[in-house]
Amino acid sequence: MSGNDNALPAAVLEAIARAPRLLVVDDQPINIQALYQTFASDHQVFMATSGEQALAVCREQQPDLVLLDVVMPGMDGYEVCTRLKADASTRDIPVIFVTAHNDEATETRALDVGAVDFISKPINPKVVRARVRTHITLKHQSDLLRRMAFIDGLTGVFNRRYFDERLQTEWLRAQRNGSELSVALIDVDFFKRYNDRYGHQAGDDCLRQVTTVLEATLQRPADVVARYGGEEFVCILPETGLAGALALAQRLERAVRALGIAHAEGAVEGRVSVSVGVACKSAAAQGDPAGLLAQADARLYAAKEAGRARVCGSEVPGSSEARSAV
Ligand code: GH3
Ligand code: MG
Ligand code: MG
Repeated sequence: MSGNDNALPAAVLEAIARAPRLLVVDDQPINIQALYQTFASDHQVFMATSGEQALAVCREQQPDLVLLDVVMPGMDGYEVCTRLKADASTRDIPVIFVTAHNDEATETRALDVGAVDFISKPINPKVVRARVRTHITLKHQSDLLRRMAFIDGLTGVFNRRYFDERLQTEWLRAQRNGSELSVALIDVDFFKRYNDRYGHQAGDDCLRQVTTVLEATLQRPADVVARYGGEEFVCILPETGLAGALALAQRLERAVRALGIAHAEGAVEGRVSVSVGVACKSAAAQGDPAGLLAQADARLYAAKEAGRARVCGSEVPGSSEARSAV
């Protein structure tokens, strides 16, 4: 994800750019064939011939839309739709029913179980294409809104709301897998003075530059950087022990200083710097994510107390706190 001013997150751009993904569900291969031919040229089409298969494809492939037959042996279309809507991982995939029964009762029931639309067989390719296009556009727009709700407007990285949810998820995953999990809290040093001296606009630019450096320094795909608030950032480092997290935090700290953003009243060398508090949940640790964050916060405070522009990762100030040459 870029830290540019008005950049969209890469995942969003990707979703918009790629061919729409469509799942066609029908127990009759001949019906699937007709829909496949209608969409194959400009859609990625998945196929399922039973309700169970449809649910599995939805969970694994996350199609943008499902064209769903009503009457199927075993699990019928209503049941499939009801289950899709009951599962958080598939709830947002729009469903259009395609059925030979075009009476009012069938249509009403389809809409009641959560379908967005209803199309009669035999299908008219132009009508089906138009309706599918409409609903995929709506789906992309609502995906975008959902994601934007998790993005910080100034920096383009994840926001606090996303961070809170993600930390909880990673914590539970670490508990389940018996793996380590580290967090690093990063706070710009003497940033109030920076704003006072250089102006709020320059302050905003500075935060964007710091963000870019943080993103560039994190290396693993699972690592997450978020704006925690004001001039504070936070990294979630899954499957990372204290030593690894400290090494990364030191690289972050050095990289920010290496930007060389002038700060006449800064902590060191007349440049913008950050202080970092690092905490690690060991493989066996219990507790909760709030405790881990509180520990990182206490260490951030210790880093500030010890002179800023440094990393602190232990209870006893000095033992694993470090500032190295840029
Ligand atoms: P310390 O080294 O102890 O962290 O000192 P500090 O001045 O950085 O800390 P303090 O919490 O006193 O001040 C933080 C300042 O960050 C206050 C506020 O003006 C500034 N700030 C917070 N959010 C933004 C923002 O979005 N844009 C700009 N330009 N400034 C911000
Ligand atoms: Mg602060
Ligand atoms: Mg600060």
